[in-house]
Amino acid sequence: MTVTNQGFDLDLIRRYDVNGPRYTSYPTANLFTETFPESALREALAAEPPAGGRRPLSLYVHVPFCATICYYCACNKIITANRTHAVEYLERLFREMAMVSELVPAAHDVQQLHFGGGTPTYLNDEQFGAVFAALGRHFNLGDGDARDFSIEIDPRTVDPTRMSYLTGLGINRVSLGIQDFDPDVQRAVNRIQSVEDTRAIIESARANGVKSVSVDLIYGLPLQTPERFANTLATILDLAPDRISLYSYAHLPQRFKTQRQINVLDLPAAETKLRLLEMAIETLSANGYDYIGMDHFARHEDSLVEAQREGGLHRSFQGYTTHSHCDLIGLGVSAISTVGEVYAQNCKSLKDYNARIDAGELAVERGVVTSAEDRLRRDVIGALMCDFHADLAAIGRAHGVDGTDHFAQELERLAAFEADGLVRIDGSVVDVTPRGRFLIRNICMTFDAYLAPATEAFSKAI
Ligand code: SF4
Repeated sequence: MTVTNQGFDLDLIRRYDVNGPRYTSYPTANLFTETFPESALREALAAEPPAGGRRPLSLYVHVPFCATICYYCACNKIITANRTHAVEYLERLFREMAMVSELVPAAHDVQQLHFGGGTPTYLNDEQFGAVFAALGRHFNLGDGDARDFSIEIDPRTVDPTRMSYLTGLGINRVSLGIQDFDPDVQRAVNRIQSVEDTRAIIESARANGVKSVSVDLIYGLPLQTPERFANTLATILDLAPDRISLYSYAHLPQRFKTQRQINVLDLPAAETKLRLLEMAIETLSANGYDYIGMDHFARHEDSLVEAQREGGLHRSFQGYTTHSHCDLIGLGVSAISTVGEVYAQNCKSLKDYNARIDAGELAVERGVVTSAEDRLRRDVIGALMCDFHADLAAIGRAHGVDGTDHFAQELERLAAFEADGLVRIDGSVVDVTPRGRFLIRNICMTFDAYLAPATEAFSKAI
């Protein structure tokens, strides 16, 4: 499904700019509860897959440490120069891997592995070697070409020579934080990162056989102007990544203390921020990138675009993925698992995580067992997010309900979106128009049964 900037409508986007979830899960993570018992995750991990086969796995490993703070950051991280923290953390992480893997009934293939943070490259080569050795002891990492092993790289922490070590371990996808190359913007967010260092990492990754390079950009940062951001976009095009994530900066200093270091007077006005988004969409669309949905762009030939064309794109805590059929096991502090019918999140505080692992328990702190209704709505929201198309009758049938009847109220509410040219409704089939694709989260919110009391927990659509 090729999507261009056709349909980007500033006035419309301004009108629909409300708080809303990103739908990396449904129910969304703010609805996980602390009454969720550790035993629920144990049971889900130990359950035999329905057909008695082997469920492939997706593993997520969280490394919470960063050497310095970026002022815009809303991630779960620990800023420290004391490297012994990482040594102690890995000891617990290995014990967690052992505990979790003992519960899984067969030696499942790991089709996807992702290191996120924090800064995964805070770990040195020797520590990464130990992490892979531990993963290999407890899970079947396999060596097929189809596997996706990815890592988030902070180019400020990686020497280009490290890439050969990481790819030697099996890493074949990298994601680089960039945000903006303008020196003034970088100073305002305390993240100084040169184009040369970034280019060297990308070139080294490609020279070492990495099959996909992804970069993260943020619009709405302090001191960003259309001129400055245009320069950043031109540099990005020159670096030619395979995928680009373009996030909106949400200034929420009450929730994220770090953001209090940003001078609010330096933030671009709402109009400027919209102009930055419009410019990015125009530039990327005109230069070989397709809009996948929800902040993500990929080159025409990328596997995400191919998967979207063939209806095989899915959404997970790492954004868009082609590995829907996998159970996701999150390892490390704050990591989230999706196994069978449950979502489970590990303790967010390192102290609590350590205490649980030391007590020989899974480090689960909160979660939810999805209901049949949750799973039905999750499939509708997933279809809209990934395919821009949902056949409510067909999805309903797969869940044993009459989808048209079940979603009669939602179809009624969508009439307003149809009047604005954001969707087309034909019986029980909802198609998102090119105009509506940039407002996909608003459309999905129509199907979110929990939303009304919780919108304050989310960032705005733009
Ligand atoms: S943005 Fe990344 S590198 Fe910067 S503080 Fe947050 S987690 Fe660390």
